[in-house]
Amino acid sequence: MTLRTVSEYEARLDAFGIERAEEARSVRVGEKETSEQAAIVARYADLFTREQLDALRAAEAAAGDAQREAVARLRLTCQDGIVTRELAEDEDALENALLGARVPWDGDELPLRSAQARLAVEPDYARRSALGEAVLAVSTTFDDERRSLLTARNALEGDVSGFADPVARSEDEKGGVLLRPILDAVDTARVESTPAFTPAREHWFDRLLGPERDEVPPSAHAAWIRRLSPLESTYTKEASVPVCVATLARLGFDLAAEPGIRTDLDDRPQKSPRACVIPSDPPRLVHLITRAQGGLHDYEAFLHEAGHALHYAGCDPALPLAFRRLSRDHALTEIYSFLLDSISGEAGWHAEHFELTDGEAEENARAARFSNTLLFRRYSAKLGFELDFWSRFPTTGPTADGYEERLTAATGVRYPAANHLADMDAGFYSADYLRAWIRAAQVRSYLRREVGHDWWRNAETGALLRDLFREGTRPTTEEVAARIGFDPLDVAPLTADLTR
Ligand SMILES: [Zn+2]
Repeated sequence: MTLRTVSEYEARLDAFGIERAEEARSVRVGEKETSEQAAIVARYADLFTREQLDALRAAEAAAGDAQREAVARLRLTCQDGIVTRELAEDEDALENALLGARVPWDGDELPLRSAQARLAVEPDYARRSALGEAVLAVSTTFDDERRSLLTARNALEGDVSGFADPVARSEDEKGGVLLRPILDAVDTARVESTPAFTPAREHWFDRLLGPERDEVPPSAHAAWIRRLSPLESTYTKEASVPVCVATLARLGFDLAAEPGIRTDLDDRPQKSPRACVIPSDPPRLVHLITRAQGGLHDYEAFLHEAGHALHYAGCDPALPLAFRRLSRDHALTEIYSFLLDSISGEAGWHAEHFELTDGEAEENARAARFSNTLLFRRYSAKLGFELDFWSRFPTTGPTADGYEERLTAATGVRYPAANHLADMDAGFYSADYLRAWIRAAQVRSYLRREVGHDWWRNAETGALLRDLFREGTRPTTEEVAARIGFDPLDVAPLTADLTR
């Protein structure tokens, strides 16, 4: 039995994290057909033992104020690793079964992920509805595995953390952030922006879905709506990378000159359609992965992921692992991605890059803001559902109650109850997104005041962000609020943006 000191532990955890991230990357981008995370976890099993966890707990208790947070993040990673070690084989099995799943379509078969990707590009309304149903039918066949993994993970996490209650456990892990007040704050913003949202929704649903649409269209159409597909002739697949690179250049970021950022923009059948960043070894190795399909959403997705990539690749290399790659949650890094993707809501940006009239530019910026609002409303409803789901979980186990009702009422899109397990993110990620939504609006309000209304094409914005990026994952999103003079749950800037 090897018990490691904090610095020995950090070094080995660093090596483990790089291997694990590289494995996740190759599966995610479709270079590998099977996930072998379990083998990596097994090789580093000595990192994830109860004895090592106790040793880290003791080191955390003995640490001075300056060191405690870094040790706490190592301890939380150890805790999570103990759980993952137990579940890695079953989680791999589910991941591999999903990779192998096929959806019958047009007398042929599509990999599940390709079928999901096709929902964003299938132009015919009725065919999209049918494909959505076919995807759901295949996806739900994995619900028993999803349920048993959720249940097993909850029990293990409760045991290893000492918090049996899933909500209290997550709040502790996020550093003492309370989840209900976040829900209350975003509910306020949602309710106050509903009178502006409802007519915009009818306008865009008519325009994007056509006359045959259901009054409340099913979620099979969500990706098509979000992609703003009818604007595709303006926002081509080919222009997305050069336009986004030029957009970043105006902010003072030269993506090609960032040595740590590796881009993967290729199209492969098993590549997940969701863009992502995998920070394998920041700031030296950060993967920016997108799969362009045509449409304005490609631009938003690229700018969003560029926000993450620049954040990770911009950190001080001298920071400890705890502040380069580890974090308690994702609420900080999502501020930067939300800020950059919100540039698509600026009419001036559309006019500058796409040779549009002012009227067209304003209309398309409105489309982008509508799509963002729709997503915000979905996530606010998702957090409400997830809080209820996990609050009743210890007594009822996993149940779909409230999923369809809440999400449908918030968005005007029908999210079928049967999809609730596939739509569940670990660790209340929805709350992290929502904190970032609130914060990005506060940062935009600050930038408009300090830099000007052209903050989105001003190198002063980049300079300000670069200073924050240097600090890596260390600050909390609540600390960022304090620095720019806002209460963490002040939703006035967000409400103003949603009703703009
Ligand atoms: Zn993100």
